[in-house]
This record gives sequence, structure tokens and C-alpha cells, in this order.
Amino acid sequence: MSDPHWAPCALDTRIWEEELNDFVPAQVFDVHTHLHDWTHYTDHAKATGPYAPSIGTYFPSATRTIADAVDAALMPGREVDRLSFPFPYPRPIDTEAANALIAAEVSGAPRSAGLMLVQPEMTVEHIRTTLARTGLIGLKPYLVYARGAPPAEARITDFLPEPQIALADELGLIIMMHLSKRDAIADPDNIRDLRDLTERYPGAKWCLAHCARSYSAWAIEAAAASLRGIPNIWYDTSTVCEADALDALYTGVGVDRVMYGSDDLIGPMRGKYIAFGRAWSLLHPGNHSLTLGHCLPDMTFIRYEQLRAMKRGARQIGLTWAQRKALFHDTARALVDSVPRH
Ligand SMILES: [Zn+2]
Repeated sequence: MSDPHWAPCALDTRIWEEELNDFVPAQVFDVHTHLHDWTHYTDHAKATGPYAPSIGTYFPSATRTIADAVDAALMPGREVDRLSFPFPYPRPIDTEAANALIAAEVSGAPRSAGLMLVQPEMTVEHIRTTLARTGLIGLKPYLVYARGAPPAEARITDFLPEPQIALADELGLIIMMHLSKRDAIADPDNIRDLRDLTERYPGAKWCLAHCARSYSAWAIEAAAASLRGIPNIWYDTSTVCEADALDALYTGVGVDRVMYGSDDLIGPMRGKYIAFGRAWSLLHPGNHSLTLGHCLPDMTFIRYEQLRAMKRGARQIGLTWAQRKALFHDTARALVDSVPRH
């Protein structure tokens, strides 16, 4: 059998050994993992759609077994538990099947947990019943399902209506929030909405994905002073590959609010999320025409670029062993364990 496509090459091994092996602790809680199946995406045109060249090609089936194998290859010897949720394919998507897959995958891993993919038109009763039946501990809304606004301009409540937030408050649920808007967390509506919603619904536990979608420093720099100290907001580091963004997050909101997330199975693909101006995007082997004859031209895993940024972004604050352990495990573990189970 040939090696899986995530098998490390010589460049990957060198980066892991020389730069990352001494940074990643033995115990990891990955707070941002997508487990999914391409068949749940029921769009007849999906073969030519935007996800076909990435997860459609590399990870049409993302199970816990595959995520475990990826972690064993990329972070050898580490023990990894996870918070998992579906991949939010655009409509049409079979959300029932997507959530059932998470429930089934998580049921065999008692130290891991899962979130329910929600859409704004779902009733609170439907969500409540599904959570009770499956044991999932929170909500995964997504901007592609927004009502009343284009996905890139949506406010939080356009894709996570207030009754759903009230349910999260009542049950103490985690909300995995990928913010919308071109200025992401720097957008005044997002800042105002988060301050308002976290205050009025103090039991809901928000995790702002991708450093609050700050792929470079400027967005979280602008927002940190308004968010610092809010007790029910956390942040994950998934796929952010610029050290300045991590530095701004650690120093702006406090490293004790920050948690490792992989965005798997994005992490084991090769490339890097790069930022310029007020933009960011994935640079990967298939979308550039850079001249690279003067250096080794190969790309490493997105995961490794993210871990490099997490490490180098901490140079200014310096991480104690306990802080590094919290960043990779303890903070997420405590957050997941704080959700009441029935
Ligand atoms: Zn994600």
C-alpha cells in the first residue's frame, strides 16, 4: 500500500524535529476538528465547486480514525483528544446525517466531544431534541447559511438567531463562531454584537475560531481592548499561520483564553495562509506561479506553518511550561468539561 498523502516528507520531518517537536506538549486537545463525509454535501454540481480541489479530493471522508492517523504522523507520540463538528458545506447539505456522523464518531471517544451543525431556520425545539439525543455539547453555525445578508456581510444573528443563543445560554453550550465581514473581528458590528450577546447570555461559551478570524495582527489589535476580560469568550488558533496574529492575540486578550485548534482536515494539506494589506488567503502548490529556483521550493503542512506561528508569536510574552500546556490542552479540556451533561 502506498503512503497516505499526509505522510511527512524530508522537509516536514526537518521542520518538525528542528522547530516544533520541543514546542508541542505530550497531551493535546484539538478544539477545532471537522469530521464529515462528502456524500452529505448533496449539490449535484459539487464536483466543479469550490471545495472539490481541496477536501473533496484529499479528504472526502474525514473520520476520527483518519484524524488520529494524521495526528500520529504530524505530531508523533502526542495524545490527542478533540472537539469535533461537521464541515459546513454550503446548501444543499444533509445536516441530519452530518450531525449523526459526529455523534457516532464521538461516542467511541469518551474524552472527546462534538458540536451540532445548526442553520438559522432550525427551531430551538429541534436543536434541543437533537442535543439530548446525541450528547453533542454545543452549536456550530456558519456564515454560508445566513439569512437576510450575503455571507461575507452577515452579522452574527443573521446566521445564529437569538433564540438559538438563548438556548446555548440556558444549557451552557459552546458556540464555535467563525465570524463574518471583511474586517472580521475588527468590524464594529461584530464587536458590538459580541459585547452585547455575551452580556445578555452569560451562560453561552463562545469560541472565536481562527484567532477571531484575525489571520494577521491588525484585526485583533483593533478589537482586543473591547474584548479583553469578557469571561465567556475563548479563541482558537486554527490555520492562522502568521506569527504577528498570534502575538497580537496572546498579548491582546491573554494567552489563558487561547486554545490550539487544527481545522483538520485542513491542517494536513500543504500550503500556508498568507496575509497582505487587509487580505488573507491560502497559498498552496496549485495556485501560485512564484519563481523559486533559488531555494527549496516545497511547501510543508498548513499545520506546521500554524505551529511555527504559535511558537514564534509567543516570543514577546514567553510561555511558561504551564501556559504551553494550557494553550495545547488544559484550557480546552476545562471548557469542554464545563458544559453540563444530562
Ligand atoms: Zn473550521
